[in-house]
Amino acid sequence: MSNEQQRQGVVGIVGAGLVGALNAIYFAQRGWKVELYELRPDMRLPIHRESRRGRSINLALSERGLSALRCTGLGLEDIILKASVPMKARMVHIGKQCTQMSQQYSVNGEHINAVDRARLNELLLDAAEKMENVTVHFEHRLTQADIETNKLEFVVADGTTKSYYTDLIIGADGAYSKLRSQMMRRMRMDYDQEYIDTGYCELSMPPAKGPDGKPTFALDPNHLHIWPRHTFMLIALPNPDFSFTCTLFMPFKMFDEIKTEDQLMHFFRENFIDSIPLIGEESLKLDFFNNPRGSLVTIKASPHHYQDKALIIGDAAHAMVPFYGQGMNCGFQDVQVLHEILDRHNVHPVFVDNKIRGLKEALDDYSETRVKDAHAICDLAMYNHYEMRSAVTSMRYLARRKLEGIIHSWFPRLIIPLYTMVSFTTLPYSQAIDRWHRQTHWLNVAMFSTAVATASVMTAVGFKYRDQFLPTVRSAVDTIKHLF
Ligand code: FAD
Repeated sequence: MSNEQQRQGVVGIVGAGLVGALNAIYFAQRGWKVELYELRPDMRLPIHRESRRGRSINLALSERGLSALRCTGLGLEDIILKASVPMKARMVHIGKQCTQMSQQYSVNGEHINAVDRARLNELLLDAAEKMENVTVHFEHRLTQADIETNKLEFVVADGTTKSYYTDLIIGADGAYSKLRSQMMRRMRMDYDQEYIDTGYCELSMPPAKGPDGKPTFALDPNHLHIWPRHTFMLIALPNPDFSFTCTLFMPFKMFDEIKTEDQLMHFFRENFIDSIPLIGEESLKLDFFNNPRGSLVTIKASPHHYQDKALIIGDAAHAMVPFYGQGMNCGFQDVQVLHEILDRHNVHPVFVDNKIRGLKEALDDYSETRVKDAHAICDLAMYNHYEMRSAVTSMRYLARRKLEGIIHSWFPRLIIPLYTMVSFTTLPYSQAIDRWHRQTHWLNVAMFSTAVATASVMTAVGFKYRDQFLPTVRSAVDTIKHLF
């Protein structure tokens, strides 16, 4: 065999965010030589911590993400869970008085977890860097990629350009992926991008003082708090340091209309009155007028790969609005699914006849499998935008949730609530949605049949005992007439 035939495969991963760093660990564990390129400086250095301000600092981690962390076998799941806050229910703050109503996420007591984004990223980078076949290149901004010749070009810290060649290129460089745009110049990739009119701004709620003078949470920490107000909403997720990170989601036009501190306070008094003393007036004004306004975009791409040369993963392949708390979870699941498929195709990072055997077939299989799931969760996240802002307080929604919950606790396999399938299982998203549609059909049939049966029985009973009932009905009608 020649040297070329024996050469170890090199994978170049662009973006050392959450998904890129986890993917580096998986590839390193399979024996690839991993080059990980990140445009930002090393986030673990104290001088760079301040630059994180305003970027959503905590995320809801659920089963799909946990499963991908668990599968590394490095104990990452336990480490991150120790530093997380479990959220077992939504706490809906209803109406002008902000009356609180707790809505459990699962009848079986399952919960999602509020985790610190930066801590998770640091942990993944630490784990990746510990592996001898991983090299991390910070301050490397991808500017060009020639996917036919496997050439990557970066602008580095001193402004000069550096080129690298890798056998497989992975774009984990987020929603505005440079690698994706470079791939699109070469191949027929379908691409769909949609901004919503809602933007977001982060506000921080500091710890409160407990009766013993020690810091404590200002709100119940085991809840994801929501103030739904139809066209806008406020949410708050707990942090392990007893603070909450609040995010105000609102149409850009409304953000623009709040120009003065008085207008801001009036808006909060009208809509989120209970949050004002907890956030603090000064801090609220400071955050609202100084923190950046984020925009929210859905991005769908298909396919996710080009031959055996390039692949996009995480937000680079499927950005979604954050209302199902699934962006990162889905990206982590991408990594797990990719490596299960590489296993299935017996792909080893060794060149035989100038090729890595099975790689092209595996990547074909990956796009075939994952694109439909990515599209499904993008659509579902958009649907949840409506549910969180409005439906959570509607009687119909609450009745349906209650009914689903009851049937699920009696017959756990017959009816599984959608939220449970998405957040507490690893069932492919597209299958979860198909199942949900079938369940909805049967639930509607059951509810309609029950209503018809009840009405028929009532009519029959009413007819049989009409002599007793009629006087009562007449006197009720007379009473009502007198009232008006
Ligand atoms: P990113 O986190 O965007 O990382 C991309 C990395 O690539 C970055 O480090 C970036 O610096 C680097 N990069 C970019 N361009 C280049 C380049 N040209 N060269 C080199 N490097 C580059 N998800 C959840 O699962 N649960 C939640 O509760 C949740 N809440 C959210 C709340 C908000 C307000 C938002 C906006 C998102 C939320 N998400 C949530 C989604 C989640 O943040 C993303 O899905 C996740 O961060 C995607 O990870 P990623 O690694 O694919 O991309």
